[in-house]
Amino acid sequence: MTGHPAGETASAASYGDGTRAVRAGLPEPVKNEPPLPGPVFAAHFHLPGEVTGPYTYGRDTNPTWTLLERAIGELEAPGREDVDTIVFASGMAAVSAVLLSQARAGDTVVLPDDGYQALPLVREQLEAYGVHVRTAPTGGDAQLTVLEGARLLWIETPSNPGLDVCDVRRLVAAAHTAGTLVAVDNTLATPLGQRPLELGADFSVASGTKGLTGHGDLLLGYVACRDPELAAGVRRWRKIVGAVPGPMEAWLAHRSLATIQLRAERQWANARSVAEALAGRTEVTGLRYPGLTSDPSHQTAARQMSGFGSVVSFTLPDRAHAERFMSALRLVEDATSFGGVRSTAERRGRWGGDAVPEGFIRFSAGAEDPRDLVSDVIRALNQADSGA
Ligand SMILES: *Cc1c(COP(=O)(O)O)cnc(C)c1O
Repeated sequence: MTGHPAGETASAASYGDGTRAVRAGLPEPVKNEPPLPGPVFAAHFHLPGEVTGPYTYGRDTNPTWTLLERAIGELEAPGREDVDTIVFASGMAAVSAVLLSQARAGDTVVLPDDGYQALPLVREQLEAYGVHVRTAPTGGDAQLTVLEGARLLWIETPSNPGLDVCDVRRLVAAAHTAGTLVAVDNTLATPLGQRPLELGADFSVASGTKGLTGHGDLLLGYVACRDPELAAGVRRWRKIVGAVPGPMEAWLAHRSLATIQLRAERQWANARSVAEALAGRTEVTGLRYPGLTSDPSHQTAARQMSGFGSVVSFTLPDRAHAERFMSALRLVEDATSFGGVRSTAERRGRWGGDAVPEGFIRFSAGAEDPRDLVSDVIRALNQADSGA
């Protein structure tokens, strides 16, 4: 087996996701060296004479990032050599890098009004710098109505935590006609569930903290981008603010990527099973999972996604009911975040900020055996319903 990804891109595009995932970003095999080299811990690199070569100083470049960036790029845009990926210390570092490096005073940026809970903080910062911000909901492609004259459109689909979906191709077409750049937050879907660059977006941006790495043990973010100039602006931003991932986190992330297809397949199937079980319950309202054919987002989601993610959202009658449900669960940890191999859930209203009912639950299906997970959820629902 040879196996240098760069020499294999033509066939890499035809491989399945599982094959691509286990080989993503691996360097050319070297006799007596490990297939995935260990993390390179270096603040600086030997640099005699002229400043040449890829590795000079640890805030600019690091060989462990290089391999991870290649790996993520291969998953975001299989077979395309023109994609540049830049890894960051966290998802928010990546989100801010795109928004703050692209928008200038006087520009207009369009954000979703139902997106990730830190977006309103970014909005405040953009406005403090003289950037105009407009918002509209994700559902119904409502951002189309506020695009005029915008420099950048920010899409989050499926949205977190409401799980609304918008038509990326349609929004991209309208935005590009108007000279507006498009960034898609791909955190929830992961590159296995959705490939924004193939749908026409200029940037695919995500938190690697969630389903991408899946073990809940590191923070990471990335930006993948086709245009070299746009990529250079994002890379420059990382260097200026120093929002760099540690080599250990980058290496752990790369190691975790090998199992992304296995994890995603199990977690998506589990999410669907949980959603189907919830659909039969009279105390559950507002059930959302884009993979359910009855979901309002399903048709749009099915046109642009190859998997519907691990997150299910629903509402129990009130706060006390939701709290009884949460404490009755045994296999599902009460925690924020999502996409990990251990199921988690939370009563989202405890944070404030998101416009959700008091009984709203965001549920993230892990990689447990489906029978065990579904029976745990049903048992907890029964217990919560009986008032215990
Ligand atoms: C978690 C999350 C982020 C931020 O990622 P961090 O790694 O926590 O900084 C951004 N967007 C979405 C949709 C998220 O769920």
